[in-house]
Amino acid sequence: MRTIALHSSHACLSVTIEKLLIFPVLTFVMCNDSRNCSYGWFSVGNLYFFQRTISCLKRCQYDELFKTISSIWDVLFVFPTFDIENQTKTMNKTVYVLAATALMATSFNAMAQKPEDTEVYTPVPAVVTPGANNQDAPSDAIILFNGQNLGHWESVNNPGQPAGWDVANGILTVNKKAGNIQTKDKFEDYQLHIEWRIPADIEGEGQGRGNSGLFLASIGSGDAGYELQILDSYKNKTYTNGQAGSIYKQGVPLVNPARMPGEWQTYDVIWTAPRFNEDGSLKSPAKVTALFNGVLVQNDFILKGPTQYIGQPSYDKAAHGPSPIKLQAHGDASKPISFRNIWVRKL
Ligand code: MG
Repeated sequence: MRTIALHSSHACLSVTIEKLLIFPVLTFVMCNDSRNCSYGWFSVGNLYFFQRTISCLKRCQYDELFKTISSIWDVLFVFPTFDIENQTKTMNKTVYVLAATALMATSFNAMAQKPEDTEVYTPVPAVVTPGANNQDAPSDAIILFNGQNLGHWESVNNPGQPAGWDVANGILTVNKKAGNIQTKDKFEDYQLHIEWRIPADIEGEGQGRGNSGLFLASIGSGDAGYELQILDSYKNKTYTNGQAGSIYKQGVPLVNPARMPGEWQTYDVIWTAPRFNEDGSLKSPAKVTALFNGVLVQNDFILKGPTQYIGQPSYDKAAHGPSPIKLQAHGDASKPISFRNIWVRKL
C-alpha cells in the first residue's frame, strides 16, 4: 500500500493506516497514483465516518455520534487545503463536500429527533360513553327509533305529515300502504345502526321476499336516493347486486351473512355523502362501509351515483346537500318486515 499523503496537519484527522485497512480495495483504487492520493484518503475517511455514524445510530450512543460528527466537521475544514490542480479534481471536491454535508445533516437530524416529536396532544377526542353492548347507542348518538314512537320520522309521500308505519311492543313495522318514511333531520356523513327482521313465515322469492331498503340519503320522493338493500337473503336466490347487503344494482356484498327469517339482523353503516360543486358537478362521490350482522359486506365502496332501477347510475343532475335517511315500503306481496333500535352519529 502506498503512503498516504495528507496535505494538512490538522490534528483531529486521526484516521490511521490500521483503520484504512477496513477498505483496502477502495484505498488501492483511489490511491493508485500520487495525484489521487488525497482523494483516496478522503474517500476512505468518509466511509469510515459513515460506518461509525450508522453504528452509533444503531446503538443510540449519541455522545459517540457527536464525536463522529465533530470529526466530519474536521474533514470539511481540512479538505479545502488539499492541492486541487485541475477541473476533474474540482468536481470531485464538490461531490465530496456535498456528500459529507448530507451525511452531517442526516446525522444531526437523527440526533435532533426524539420519540416526543411525533406525539400529539390536540385535538382531544370527545369522551363518549359506549352502550352496554355494541348494539346500544353511545352517548353522542341521535336515537331515531327507541321503540316508543316515530317522532323523528315523517311520510315521504306527504312531507311534514306523520310517518304512517306501525309501532307496537317496541317494534316498528312497515305499512306498505303508507309508503316510504324518512327522518325529519338531514344528515351528511354519519355512522348508523339499525336492526331489522324478516317475518318468520315470509313467503315469496327473489326480490319479492321481505324486500325493504335503507336509503342512506333520500334525495326525492319514492325511491330516489342511495339504497342499501334489505331483503330475505337466507337461501333466497336473486341477482347478487340486489341481495341483502348490496348497494342496490351497484355493489355486490363481499359475503352473505344473512340470518334466517324470524331472527333480528343488524346493519352498521359508515356513510360519506357525496359533495357537489356550485355548478352541480360532482366534487367527490359517496362512499359506504357496511357491516351486516357484524360482518363486513361493503368496504369503503364508492358509489357511481344514486340508485338506478333501470340504466346506469350517475351523479348527473343529482346535486344535493344534507339529506334525510329513508326506509322503504316495497310493493311486493310478502309480509312487511320490522325494525328496532335505530340510531345515528353525525361525523
Ligand atoms: Mg329494496
